[in-house]
Amino acid sequence: MAGGNAIRGTRVGAGPMGESERGESAPRRRVSYWCANGHEVRPSFALDAEEPEMWDCPRCGLPAGKDQESPPDPPRNEPYKTHLAYVKERRSDADGEAILEEALAKLRAQRGE
Ligand SMILES: [Zn+2]
Repeated sequence: MAGGNAIRGTRVGAGPMGESERGESAPRRRVSYWCANGHEVRPSFALDAEEPEMWDCPRCGLPAGKDQESPPDPPRNEPYKTHLAYVKERRSDADGEAILEEALAKLRAQRGE
């Protein structure tokens, strides 16, 4: 048995994802993306890898594009919702109508109708 085998053995599984050797030694290039909020994110890619058209902004979650002048539009679901919006989403239409009726009934009662 050669002396180097024991040392080689300890290297197996050294990187938790098995990426440490691959990622650090390979030449990388950075590509800039901009989101609609003006954040710049610069992920790095392997030289021979094709960079994606879009990249998720790690700061606000919006899609970021390579064109700083015209970043991609934010997705339709807004990041900030009112409590009412969440309630509406969770409940069925029938539930919503029942709640509305109840609220109207209370209002009418308060106004003495
Ligand atoms: Zn952003």
